[in-house]
Amino acid sequence: MAVLHKEFIEFNKNISLTSKRKESLKNSRKELRKKIRKWFKDNKPDELQPKFNGQGSYSMNTVINPLPVTDSQGKQKLMYDLDDGVYFIKKNEQNDHRSINTLHNWIFDSVDNHTGQSSIKKNTCIRVVFADGHHIDLPIYYKNEESILLAHRSKGWLESDPKEFTEWFNGKKTTQLERIVRYLKAWKNFRETNNNSLKLPSGFELTILATENYFEDDNDDRAFRETIRNIESQLTNTFGFKCLRPTTPAGEDLFANYSDTRKSNFLSSISSLLNDLDRADEEPNFRKASNILVKNQFGSRYPLGEDNDSDTKNKELIKALGMATVTPKPYGY
Ligand SMILES: [Mg+2]
Repeated sequence: MAVLHKEFIEFNKNISLTSKRKESLKNSRKELRKKIRKWFKDNKPDELQPKFNGQGSYSMNTVINPLPVTDSQGKQKLMYDLDDGVYFIKKNEQNDHRSINTLHNWIFDSVDNHTGQSSIKKNTCIRVVFADGHHIDLPIYYKNEESILLAHRSKGWLESDPKEFTEWFNGKKTTQLERIVRYLKAWKNFRETNNNSLKLPSGFELTILATENYFEDDNDDRAFRETIRNIESQLTNTFGFKCLRPTTPAGEDLFANYSDTRKSNFLSSISSLLNDLDRADEEPNFRKASNILVKNQFGSRYPLGEDNDSDTKNKELIKALGMATVTPKPYGY
């Protein structure tokens, strides 16, 4: 049995953001905030002014380097996905928020041409796309005394609390759980890159599944494998095919609107992953074991192990120990 802990740790290094990259993404967010603030000051001085709160994987330290994507002009792009919540906080007695469309239009206008490319109006946010491929999503919230409401263009005002989710995760996480979430996201990234029609659960959903099913172990390969086993059995056994949001709106099933195809694709992908993790675990040769994961599940960002058998090592060890125990003891003289 080849224990691939070392390989998993190196994989984590390959998919994690360098501090330089973190800094540059943070800076990009900072510049965008500055621009939005200025636009409101100049154009809507009598309205509620926007406040910001970073959310999503950047705040949870689980962002991964995406695999580069080649655009139509042959340029390599890195599609980092950041989220920055825009908040309008109630000030007066009266309900002083504007309509969902007005808020979306204002934010759209405030960021337009920031990057030389046009921003995108989505149902849940305004997306600002940058030349190197990364984008910043700006969901818009209105906060009053009782609740935080997300301005959703097709569903209306929805109760939501992204900060509560970040706190939920940060309260449960260990550095190993952070790595497990990154492994899962890198798996999703590789699998979807290889198969355009495959749409696995979002990073947010995978984070919930990993956290709810986390198996702690000294070795990352066992921790990851058993976490995946727990996820698979949760989805196929008693609990059913569900992913319940743990924070406001708590209990919402994020898988409720999955098509049958999406559901069966995810289930077969997760059992293929588990199957390969078990095969790698049973394979004594480190190179062969890691190659199973490189080929089918993670791609070349996962390192190849040494071309030797864990059995060979064990045998040598047993031999050495055996030698010691069979050494004739100097009884009798
Ligand atoms: Mg996003």
